Amino acid sequence: MVRTRFAPSPTGYLHIGGVRTALFCWLFARRHGGRFVLRIDDTDQQRNVEEALAPILHGLRWLGIDWDEGPEVGGPYGPYYQSQRADRYRAVAERLLADGLAYRDYATPEEIQAERKAVQQLKRPFIYSRRWMAETSQQQARFEAEGRQGVVRLKMPREGRLVVDDLVRGQVEFEWAQEQDHVIQRADGSCLYHLASVVDDHEFQITHVIRAEEHLSNTPRQVFIAQGLGYELPQYAHLPYVAEPGSRNKLSKRKLAKYLKNRDFAQRVEHGRKIAEAIGLKTDPEAFNPVIVDFYEQVGYLPDAIVNYLALLGWSLDDQTEHFTRQELLQSFSMERVNKAPASFDCQKLWAFQEHYMQQVPDDEKIRMVLPYLQKAGLAASQPPGEVEARVARIVRAAGDRIKTAGDVLDYADFFVPDDELPYDEKALQKRLRQPPGAVELLRKFQAQLAAADAYDAETLGKLLHDFVENEGIGIGQIIHAVRVAVTGKAVGFGLFDTLAILGKASCLARIERAIRQV
Ligand code: GLU
Repeated sequence: MVRTRFAPSPTGYLHIGGVRTALFCWLFARRHGGRFVLRIDDTDQQRNVEEALAPILHGLRWLGIDWDEGPEVGGPYGPYYQSQRADRYRAVAERLLADGLAYRDYATPEEIQAERKAVQQLKRPFIYSRRWMAETSQQQARFEAEGRQGVVRLKMPREGRLVVDDLVRGQVEFEWAQEQDHVIQRADGSCLYHLASVVDDHEFQITHVIRAEEHLSNTPRQVFIAQGLGYELPQYAHLPYVAEPGSRNKLSKRKLAKYLKNRDFAQRVEHGRKIAEAIGLKTDPEAFNPVIVDFYEQVGYLPDAIVNYLALLGWSLDDQTEHFTRQELLQSFSMERVNKAPASFDCQKLWAFQEHYMQQVPDDEKIRMVLPYLQKAGLAASQPPGEVEARVARIVRAAGDRIKTAGDVLDYADFFVPDDELPYDEKALQKRLRQPPGAVELLRKFQAQLAAADAYDAETLGKLLHDFVENEGIGIGQIIHAVRVAVTGKAVGFGLFDTLAILGKASCLARIERAIRQV
């Protein structure tokens, strides 16, 4: 049975590149009726692991990338935290020592550094002399008598080559001589990632190690350990990394300032920032960063849009098809169609997917999605209970495709503020009410018409306005903009008649009155 694993370190955030790897592991496992395992690489963790892990688990769940074994769900091979498996790694380190595949080494970091420097001066690659290697207990005792502390190093081959059959990269060759005698156990007895990873992949019966390209160079030492222990090797698949906008460099959460020079990127961040600020979220780059999955949840993107976009970061079915439902992805994903070249992260393209998916969302579902934004922005409380939902439903219908993320409902915040607190866009006020001669008089007259209207639905209001335009002998533009600014405070929005109908007569009259006082 196919078994894949995603092995994040608990860093406190879920990186776009990381989640792309998780998605490919998940798709591959699901496609082959296998199991997807989540393993936590917390051997080097200083901070609170649960806290640093929570956003990762949350982000995966939000995207619908569920795991069959791992934190919170358990499984037959647990524990799934490396920090809880230290004894196993130590036992394996002992075995490698006993079999002569590893050795205790007593060099100090300074001694190693001096050796490294000496060969560098000769412009030769560094190969450790193994001068402080202890293979017998006498040697060990002698070094320890000098007060030295021993680590465990792999005794790597110094000739020949390794050929790894990678599912993405084909045959990859490595010269053994270029490998160092990597440390697998520190002086304090704790074991390092390479050893831990190999032991876990074996014990969890992982059949396919699917991970980012940066781990390709780690593969020889891991193969050396696995072969030395007689483990069956997994199939390797090293995915191209996710590159930054417009370049082949790896996407990094720390380079936000640089990415903001890209107009598309800056535009998406700005769009998100407005929403985040309105609902009281922090917007510093640590908390609010499009390189981190959280960003999209906060702004109200759809998981399906993100999953579809991420699937195309390094994979394609036919270089053409763009839209895939989850079901279609599960049916068509294959490692053969994963590219070697890095795919750059393109906010605008992701946005296009978001627009596409949002158009498919039924109104009822949209209403459910947008309500929390109004609540968090403190706008839901200004309406009598029950009326918020009804009003939101009307807004969602009237706005249609203008609501592109759930947070975009906040563009219609003006429907939820009390009439006497409506903010005005100064520029719009100037242009539509103050400057055009006679604008206020026209508005007054129209206000009287509204006051006299018996019915207050969009259709009646439309007719009312057209009659008004005709009777006054004016162009429609002379009144509609002024009315819009007066009742919404803004120059743009969805259909004016829907706007008036949703606000209701009393609000429209009060708002027009107040707008006139601003002039
Ligand atoms: N913990 C490693 C990382 O965060 C994963 C290594 C692997 O997949 O083997 O990149």
